[in-house]
Amino acid sequence: MDKMVMKSLLESMKMDAYVENRISEMHVCFFCERIGYKHLPMKRVGNKWICIDCLRELKEALDSLDEWEQEIALREELKKNIEPKGD
Ligand SMILES: [Zn+2]
Repeated sequence: MDKMVMKSLLESMKMDAYVENRISEMHVCFFCERIGYKHLPMKRVGNKWICIDCLRELKEALDSLDEWEQEIALREELKKNIEPKGD
């Protein structure tokens, strides 16, 4: 994803979360199913709520996505070479 697109997406997510936080304060995290109160900040992504801890993990995953994709591609390549071709 383009960095600018990502940034504006994050900005609109922040805005949504801000507005939503003012309306309601209690949500269940989509990933870890913890309930978010004020001490557990949460953001809405799509129609799901995600807590700050899971968002941090998600961010780490996104930050390393390029590396990860290269790793997957490499693994696929290795698999192709190891697996017997047909029979
Ligand atoms: Zn969570």
